[in-house]
Amino acid sequence: MHDILPSHMPAWNQLEDEYRALAESYGYRQIRTPIVEKTALFARSIGTVTDIVEKEMYSFEDRNGDSLSLRPENTASVVRAGLQAGMLQDQQHRLWYCGPMFRHERPQKGRYRQFHQLGAETFGVAGADIEAELILLAARFWKRLGLENIELQLNSLGSSHCRQNFRSILVEYFRDHYQQLDADSQRRLETNPLRILDSKNPDMQALIEAGPGLQDSLDQESQEHFAELIDILDQTGVSYEVNRRLVRGLDYYSHTVFEWVTETLGAQGTVCAGGRYDGLVEQLGGKPNYAAGFSMGCERLVSMIVDQDKVATEAGCDVYLIMRGENSIARAQQLAEMIRDHMPLLQLVVHAGGGSFKSQMRKADRSGARIALILGETEIEAGTIAVKFLREEKAQSEIMQADIVTQLALLLV
Ligand code: ATP
Ligand code: MG
Repeated sequence: MHDILPSHMPAWNQLEDEYRALAESYGYRQIRTPIVEKTALFARSIGTVTDIVEKEMYSFEDRNGDSLSLRPENTASVVRAGLQAGMLQDQQHRLWYCGPMFRHERPQKGRYRQFHQLGAETFGVAGADIEAELILLAARFWKRLGLENIELQLNSLGSSHCRQNFRSILVEYFRDHYQQLDADSQRRLETNPLRILDSKNPDMQALIEAGPGLQDSLDQESQEHFAELIDILDQTGVSYEVNRRLVRGLDYYSHTVFEWVTETLGAQGTVCAGGRYDGLVEQLGGKPNYAAGFSMGCERLVSMIVDQDKVATEAGCDVYLIMRGENSIARAQQLAEMIRDHMPLLQLVVHAGGGSFKSQMRKADRSGARIALILGETEIEAGTIAVKFLREEKAQSEIMQADIVTQLALLLV
């Protein structure tokens, strides 16, 4: 778990502000759910034999003896909240969220125990059109952030019926190669064989590559659904790669699954993952309802933004106000408040903590401000304030305190 220090906040704010504006512009509305939920919610939704529920959750007993967990992801909570509020009965919704998630994983670059996700969830739409919309939204997000080199990978898991078929074919194949499976995969063969395809172990890749692919198990309807998505992506100019071995780590996906991947981040290159999860609403006690969504890893995106060097890492400051003499402190604050009344976006820092004129000037310079305003006893008597440009060759001048707002606006043009 890590701190986000002020130098990284501009990149975080850019990410979150752009996402909020973008999601709202597509008609998505924000939802916030608690960080803690009943452990059973995640066991029922994500599945008891997934890595997340088996070994990554922060679970604890509260004072009533209920088992609670810090949320490892937000989809289950959003569905729970939607059901509880009666929002999911035959209704369509487009929702977005943002916030911290918690998984007890081995920390490494791009993988943390508290990390943040931006996400979207849609309910009530059965077709490939909504999946395409989610993909277009993400594609536009990369464009707005100026991020290149993020590639889309797609697959179809088919209906749950197809998955069952594929499961037995897969189990047969891996049984025949049992000795080549690593310990994790041997265990998964019994519990969740599809997850073997998601293995990160390099020694397993050749065996996985040579194995059966999902496409042969897709029924007519699943194939048509996937073809429709491909058609929309082709016509809207989104490039993609069909990766027949792409499965998602979570149990509740069906039909379309996708990941946006970059090679610029090293091993942890997936910045966004999602797909269709029809069935989850019913699994959590609601009437069946269609659902599709995605979630993005903020740390990985921030790291790309920072690497690009396009955001400021220092605090911004336009004007730094310094003062000479004890008596000018209150007047300086008064003038500053007057300026702030009229120029709410101006970054104005009023010097605090006293010190010599020279040391105040040094702080003004280090603040990055363009202009220093200087208020001393002579100025107070004359009703003026001195203006000094810190980054330009311009003579020091005086302006009237009474005109300070209009004068400052002119000087800053
Ligand atoms: P992985 O295969 O990398 O473990 P996952 O399948 O567990 O990913 P999801 O649950 O789909 O990931 O989460 C969506 C996104 O959230 C990921 O693509 C990634 O960008 C981000 N993410 C997931 N776990 C972490 C983590 N521990 N630290 C930082 N980001 C994470
Ligand atoms: Mg994971």
